[in-house]
Amino acid sequence: MDLNRRKNILRNLQTDILQNEKEILDALKKDLNKCEFEGVATEVQYVLSELGHILKKISSWVKPKKVFTPLLHWPAKSYIHYEPYGEVLIIGPWNYPFQLILSPLIGAISAGNTVVIKPSEISHHTSLVIERMLSQDKYKNYITVVQGGVEETTKLIQKRFDYIFYTGSTPVGKIIMEAAAKNLTPVTLELGGKSPTVVTKFANLKIAARRTLWGKLMNAGQTCIAPDYIYVDETIKPQFIECLQSEVKSLYGSDPKKSNDFGRIISERHFDRLTSLIPQNCLIGGESEKEIKYIAPTVFEANENDPIMQDEIFGPLLPILTYKDTSEAVKKIKEKEKPLAFYLFSDNNSEINYFKNEISSGGMCINDTLIHIANGKLPFGGVGHSGMGAYHGHFSFETFSHKKSVVHRKSYLDVKLKYPPYCGKLKIVRWLLKFIG
Ligand code: NAD
Repeated sequence: MDLNRRKNILRNLQTDILQNEKEILDALKKDLNKCEFEGVATEVQYVLSELGHILKKISSWVKPKKVFTPLLHWPAKSYIHYEPYGEVLIIGPWNYPFQLILSPLIGAISAGNTVVIKPSEISHHTSLVIERMLSQDKYKNYITVVQGGVEETTKLIQKRFDYIFYTGSTPVGKIIMEAAAKNLTPVTLELGGKSPTVVTKFANLKIAARRTLWGKLMNAGQTCIAPDYIYVDETIKPQFIECLQSEVKSLYGSDPKKSNDFGRIISERHFDRLTSLIPQNCLIGGESEKEIKYIAPTVFEANENDPIMQDEIFGPLLPILTYKDTSEAVKKIKEKEKPLAFYLFSDNNSEINYFKNEISSGGMCINDTLIHIANGKLPFGGVGHSGMGAYHGHFSFETFSHKKSVVHRKSYLDVKLKYPPYCGKLKIVRWLLKFIG
């Protein structure tokens, strides 16, 4: 797609999202009891802001990037030509069902690709709104929506695409990558995992408690970068727990079930999985109600070997573990797979540097949670088992573009140095090769 066509599609998407905002928010409410504030901030407006940014910048992004040409190749010019991959497959999850389809979609379109999208079958109200919006004639040759679950996706990934962008769980990520490998299709995998939070004795405990709970309880804990568990310095544990207890009340009141701002669990299967992880004695919460898929914000003490510490929690349960010294916390975190996000609460710079250099993670926030995802100037993605590749803003354009190297030589001069017979040329070529970049 040429630049004008890309811009037209992006502008149409902008208009359609604005016109369908109410339907989108209603669908998010039905799927996840997502309140208007979170629906706007983390889904609709989030996508609109990214669209606005891409529309503003795309004309400069698509321009070839001129680079240095070594003396050996003169006269010539060298540049990077951004080429669309072709047909992109985007597969999305159910937890931010609008954002996690639309955000990669606009990235793929900005780079000139056509796109097949497969939204989650589990957040089906939102998936239907997406389908209705994108099945209009104006998108016909550029965007196709395929609905379905495991069976349909299995068939889809057997087809040959030029790029696959997948957001979802790590085990399914492996299935996607295996299928893509059969066709040598490049992939971006935006996966999950257990994102740790460390609260040290140099932290502002009230702030640490409030910001960790905010990140944990948004969307009822069903956020890929939600703080999964906490390591707290054992000397400050009692004070920190007191802060958690008072902060949770200030966020959701004394009965979070009555709060309009607290979400619900997506399905009975996930409700059963989560409630089976709640122990007898909780420091906060522990209550649940299956008919309305409600699980209270729940905090409890845990050990490394407990079931809650084995897999990503993906719900409003927050286990707390303690450490004696920072090296112990680092060691325990490094025994697990590299996380998608790592959160550190500390106001001590040497401690901050120590954790930052020791722990590899997709992203990191110091003294907050989640917010790194909401900066379009930062790449968003995982590392190791939490994913590969990254996107958002310019990084999306880069992700969905093949960077073709082009050298354009002139014909008016042809220095014979590179051609046989080589006799007597090596010394000067050895010298010239020092200047290849
Ligand atoms: P999921 O892996 O079950 O499903 C994601 C998509 O894959 C869906 O569209 C689904 O239909 C499809 N799918 C499921 N099983 C499949 C199979 N066997 N073969 C082919 N396709 C299959 O994930 P989910 O439950 O929808 O989402 C939760 C997971 O996603 C969590 O692990 C979370 O951390 C992760 N996630 C990651 C990000 C990120 O940006 N890194 C964002 C949101 C969610």
